[in-house]
Amino acid sequence: MNSVAMKNLPIALLLCVAVCSAYPLDRGAKDKDDSLDLVQQYLENYYNLPKDVKQFFRRKDSSPVVKKIQEMQTFLGLEVTGKLDTDTLEMMRKPRCGVPDVGYFSIFPGMPKWRKSQLTYRIVGYTLDLPKDAVDSAIEKALKVWEEVTPLTFSRIYEGEADIMITFAVREHGDFIPFDGPGKVLAHAYAPGPGIYGDAHFDDDEQWTEDTLGTNLFLVAAHELGHSLGLFHSSDPEALMYPVYNKFTDLTQFHLSQDDVNGIQSLYGSPPDSHDNPEVPTESGTPGSATPAMCDPALSFDAISTLRGEILFFKDRHFWRKTLRTPETGFYLISSFWPNLPSGVDAAYEVISKDTVFIFKGNQFWAIRGNEVQAGYPRNIQTLGFPPTVRKIDAATSDKEKKKTYFFVEDKYWKFDEKRWSMEPGFPKETADDFPGIDTKVDAVFETFGFFYFFSGSSQLEFDPNAKKVTHVLKSNSWFNC
Ligand SMILES: [Zn+2]
Ligand SMILES: [Zn+2]
Repeated sequence: MNSVAMKNLPIALLLCVAVCSAYPLDRGAKDKDDSLDLVQQYLENYYNLPKDVKQFFRRKDSSPVVKKIQEMQTFLGLEVTGKLDTDTLEMMRKPRCGVPDVGYFSIFPGMPKWRKSQLTYRIVGYTLDLPKDAVDSAIEKALKVWEEVTPLTFSRIYEGEADIMITFAVREHGDFIPFDGPGKVLAHAYAPGPGIYGDAHFDDDEQWTEDTLGTNLFLVAAHELGHSLGLFHSSDPEALMYPVYNKFTDLTQFHLSQDDVNGIQSLYGSPPDSHDNPEVPTESGTPGSATPAMCDPALSFDAISTLRGEILFFKDRHFWRKTLRTPETGFYLISSFWPNLPSGVDAAYEVISKDTVFIFKGNQFWAIRGNEVQAGYPRNIQTLGFPPTVRKIDAATSDKEKKKTYFFVEDKYWKFDEKRWSMEPGFPKETADDFPGIDTKVDAVFETFGFFYFFSGSSQLEFDPNAKKVTHVLKSNSWFNC
């Protein structure tokens, strides 16, 4: 259900191979019938298979059942065989959400979404598995997951009709989509709209828990509330909106995947900007809008670094990711890639020979490789050789040929030897003496194509280190094809 769960997926599959290879289809007529019932039901419920299709034994590649099996295998990331192999049957037996993967049961065409940002919710019924306040806090936490990445807010009401009515029920419970007893279907929810739409129902034949020994209420609620806000199932196994429940999820590491964030922000946009950055214009409430706006002519950056051939532009809680191969620019939450990194970073640089990006904030720095923060970090910047008078780094970049890193602090710079991992003697020096034309405080700097690009506020200076002069003056966001 998230990237942590994803890491555990091979374990799940290994277990599955061990368990289900003991369960082939030729085990006996009774089991065979049970399996075929399961398959028929699964494809009807989640893949829109017409109810009167009965052609398992006349299997041709063109049969609607084979097509549906292939569709299911594709969606859930299994090997696409069109056959009822053990992985496929095992997947069909896993606990999951009751909402279909294709053929959503909303009567609303297109993309249903709430037309307001202040939503109400009400917990109508409780499970006896957990104390009431544990249910309350699981629901509250689940709503917070979505609140953090959208302009939406949720307030609880105790009587009357809320936008999102939440309840626990067993079997038939008044909406013609009965629950199925313990296991398999855990819950379902309705897309935004009036009446039953937006509501979330939890199967009280499950053993609901605060940990992952039973069925974790927070995880299932966060998923179901995604439907209540208008999200469909995702075929990305890392996504919270993947339809199959993953009990291997590490709750302490839980976070939305980028797929979830993109999905919900395509409906509602990003959260309004926090008050400590008043210079950034907000576009809250505009679907698909990004905060801060990448084409705002006043845009400045906190830090910029290359990463494996791409350029990352950091700003507050977000970063833009630019590949030079395509004109598109991606926009992400820092926490969705590196949950342990702070927002509002000061400086960042890549050491290509170490495949590592170093990220600075205040007197601390982190080392990241790909999407992993390395063990043993954060460290204090004094371990790099800075005196205690240096409280923060403004900008940094590494010269990949010379294997030297330049740290910019106010109007001075320091030179660091990456090979020997030590500060060069004789520093700091005046930046403007060795980088003529760079005479204001540097917000961010990176190196590419043999040039240094210095950023200060909304301006950018291209600097040729061989000619030792500024060769171009650009807007900071010139990389975004605005
Ligand atoms: Zn679902
Ligand atoms: Zn229901």
